[in-house]
Amino acid sequence: MHLLNADLHCHSDVSDGTLPPSAVAARAHALGVDIWALTDHDELAGLASAREAALDLGMAYLTGTEISVSFAGETVHIIGLGFDANNADLQRGLAYTRAGRLQRAHGMAAGLAAAGIDGAFEGALKYVRNPDLISRTHFARFLVEAGHCPDTHSVFRRFLKEGMPGYVTHEWASLRQAVSWITDAGGAAVIAHPARYRFSPTAEYALITEFIGHGGQGLEVMTGSHSHSEQVRYAETANEFGLYASRGSDFHSVEESRIDLGSLPDLPGSLRPVWELLAPRIQGLKSAHRQRLAA
Ligand code: AMP
Ligand code: MN
Ligand code: MN
Ligand code: MN
Repeated sequence: MHLLNADLHCHSDVSDGTLPPSAVAARAHALGVDIWALTDHDELAGLASAREAALDLGMAYLTGTEISVSFAGETVHIIGLGFDANNADLQRGLAYTRAGRLQRAHGMAAGLAAAGIDGAFEGALKYVRNPDLISRTHFARFLVEAGHCPDTHSVFRRFLKEGMPGYVTHEWASLRQAVSWITDAGGAAVIAHPARYRFSPTAEYALITEFIGHGGQGLEVMTGSHSHSEQVRYAETANEFGLYASRGSDFHSVEESRIDLGSLPDLPGSLRPVWELLAPRIQGLKSAHRQRLAA
């Protein structure tokens, strides 16, 4: 049952990826993905064309998004999968989460100007396809282009992480809001890349137990952000808390992403894949695959 290649975390140019949704679908399909979800940050605007492209290619499809959440002084990402994309409360919640990104971007540009980097707002905007979604990644691309850093990872280290000149504190959605928007729309909520957060064991325990208390069901175990030992550690965490496990590359672009679509190791056999839980909500699933999920 784990033999299906699921990639349930990636981005298009509707948020901070570089390819349009249909091109992400085509790349996923070419790389052997069987079940795919596009999970743009705080946005559903790419889902109609993602769905159409996936179904045209004969690739099974789930709706997806990655919601920005503020929890215990840290930004946490919650993935939503298999929800009704027409749900009005979910759409309103995401619009509310996106609002404030423009003002934050002006603040980031002011911080960078104070550090001697002019024109960052206009520079970042050149990389933005969706004016509702200016992200730190767009600033990172401009700073690479302007020669301040060799790659986007070093831009984050030097300029865009907390404490650095281009960082602006921002209040995102609450954990309760994000999980309930997703679950009330019929989807499953998944904690994205858990190893990325700088939490103490106590704060991580609070995140997971509060997430479950709000109705969250999944933990991303296989992600482009996890080392092998982190994969092992969070596989244990998923089992310990009875969470379904997810797998997603977090692909953003050919140039920037270390892990390509569909290319992560399979989930360990001891875990229950979140796409089993979501089987009834998968569109375009081949009957042989549906039987494998039910087996
Ligand atoms: P934002 O939602 O605007 O705060 O941007 C967050 C995005 O920045 C993430 O989704 C990643 O795509 C990207 N990002 C965060 N940290 C790093 C990093 N160290 N290196 C490269 N990209 C990063
Ligand atoms: Mn991103
Ligand atoms: Mn993320
Ligand atoms: Mn992501």
